[in-house]
Amino acid sequence: MLSVSINEGQFEQLIHDFGQLSVYTIGRGLDNQIVISNGKISGHHARLIQCTPTSFILEDLSSKNGSFVNGVRITRKVVDKQDTLRLADIDITIEQLLSLLTVEPIVSAHSAKLIQESIKTSPNTAVDALDFTRPFADLQHVFEQYPKLRRDCRSREKMIRTGSVILSSVIGISAALTTGGGSIPIIHLMSGAGLSMLIPTLCSTLLSTDEKMEIIDKEYREQYRCPNPVCRDPFGTREWELLFQQKTCRRCQAIWAK
Ligand SMILES: [Zn+2]
Repeated sequence: MLSVSINEGQFEQLIHDFGQLSVYTIGRGLDNQIVISNGKISGHHARLIQCTPTSFILEDLSSKNGSFVNGVRITRKVVDKQDTLRLADIDITIEQLLSLLTVEPIVSAHSAKLIQESIKTSPNTAVDALDFTRPFADLQHVFEQYPKLRRDCRSREKMIRTGSVILSSVIGISAALTTGGGSIPIIHLMSGAGLSMLIPTLCSTLLSTDEKMEIIDKEYREQYRCPNPVCRDPFGTREWELLFQQKTCRRCQAIWAK
């Protein structure tokens, strides 16, 4: 779905822009985004890279007293909002840590926000409280994109280039609008979206391939579930098509397909 009117340079710029993740530095110093006034916390103790709305990478910045996740000392680790960190002698969850944010992150993840906003599940307008046909239909993208994203991500060499593969597979770049000064690529986000929230993460140069893979797996497991919020039964590797034929959730009776 890539429009031919986007040239190489513009495309690389696009990949670059998409790869901008929010980075929060944590430490005693007042120049951090998250300031913790404690003598055992280093000036620049650690940093948190936001990969998706729920996944982060915590990286210790060679702090004196170390960073721990769920009791284990780490230098770098993929973490959830619910994970408990220990920085020096302070126990805190990622969620609590983020509530201490005083200023904007170093890089504002405008594109990430744009994507996240566009994929918020549309409200369930149906009268039937158990009608989950719309969010269930969206899961088809999740199921189909997952192996593709893993494949694209594994072929490391191709990775930067395959920004193009990833971008064109999960979002459609519908047109390049020519204005007075030059071309502005118009990015048209496809409906449903599946795992498209991962685009900034996949394009980011801050993360290793293994970390990207871990986050792809995590998001898939998180999203590929019964859409009924009171159920959330994980579908694992079960094919979407087969679930579609099954039509309802045996666990909560949610209607997936009619
Ligand atoms: Zn269910």
